[in-house]
Amino acid sequence: MERFTGNFTQQEPIPEEAIARAVEVMRSGRLHRYNLSPGEEGEVSTLEREFAAAMGSTYCLAVASGGYALACALRAVGVQPGDTVLTNAFTLAPVPGAIASVGAVPVFVGVTEGLVIDLDDLAAKAGEAKVLMLSHMRGHLADMDRLMAICDAAGITVIEDCAHTMGARWNGRLSGTDGAVGCYSTQTYKHMNSGEGGLLVTDDPEIAARAVMLSGSYMLYGTHTAAPGPEVFDEIKYHTPNVSGRMDHLRAAILRPQLARLTEQCERWNERYRAVEDGLRGTPGLTVVERSAAEYYVGSSIQFLLLDWPEAKLLDVVARCKARGVELKWFGGAEPVGFTSRYDSWRYAPSAPMPASDRVLKAILDMRLPLTFELEDCALIARIIRAEVGAVWQG
Ligand SMILES: *Cc1c(COP(=O)(O)O)cnc(C)c1O
Repeated sequence: MERFTGNFTQQEPIPEEAIARAVEVMRSGRLHRYNLSPGEEGEVSTLEREFAAAMGSTYCLAVASGGYALACALRAVGVQPGDTVLTNAFTLAPVPGAIASVGAVPVFVGVTEGLVIDLDDLAAKAGEAKVLMLSHMRGHLADMDRLMAICDAAGITVIEDCAHTMGARWNGRLSGTDGAVGCYSTQTYKHMNSGEGGLLVTDDPEIAARAVMLSGSYMLYGTHTAAPGPEVFDEIKYHTPNVSGRMDHLRAAILRPQLARLTEQCERWNERYRAVEDGLRGTPGLTVVERSAAEYYVGSSIQFLLLDWPEAKLLDVVARCKARGVELKWFGGAEPVGFTSRYDSWRYAPSAPMPASDRVLKAILDMRLPLTFELEDCALIARIIRAEVGAVWQG
């Protein structure tokens, strides 16, 4: 019986060039973003300029985490305590957490079998909030043309959580550039790895200026090279509180060489994704999540559905795969475990039951695809899942 011995949490090493740059930063002793030698741009500003260019955005701000970027974006677009914010029922804890951190109240929108936000449900709830925090959870992009049309018609500002879609596109448009703000994470399991970190892009000068002030700029915003000019800060600087969450030169130094390789890395993820998907397709009882032709995804993880399976059988599949070295995470559990949780586990954010979404959440099995896996590993993983799903399905 075949067994997989790879490690689902093992990412690739940091590129040597990035390590060399990080060592230079440490030797300089100047790690804080505003600790610059005369005339120096600094790694953080350079990263922001390069990331803005890569995303085709006007402005960029680097911050301490993806979750910080989300909360900063909410504040920067003007969300106040007590406001409601629409968001996905299928997402990770930092998303409702960011909403709660500014004293706002999440209103959850359902998930489809395609694992994207349910646009009919969004249209039905469009009157309930002025902001949508859209989570492209696990890299699945909804029909962004229709989504933006719904939000534009209802006067809803969209903030995109692109933790799993850095480098992805809808109809050729980079993820994070449809909404007013795009937020990214550079935490270890995302598409660039600085341990912790986040980035935010926008084309709106006032949102950008507020985000810069919020992140803890003191009155040093003039050193940013991917921020609006000083005139935009004239009033904003007096009215925007400092909620420190800057990025430092060390992390920026580690990220810049990774940004240069992002497109290539996305392709490598997709090769692995397709190898697993090909191996799973046609397994009786298992639903592959079909992707739209308009979507260029980044397959850094893969999900499949065991729709309408009894819980005991589904857990049996998870246990049997685990015994053969394949770690599947289940989003349907009543108790939050590890990184997984359901909208109804966030008890600080009350929600009405969503039976159609519950049916989908109960069926989702999720697996990371680190780039340390070879294509043969991916084929082996798919064979193991196929065999174990088949054994339980028939038994
Ligand atoms: C990782 C993640 C975030 C936030 O990232 P952190 O950098 O860990 O704060 C937000 N949304 C989703 C869906 C994520 O997976």
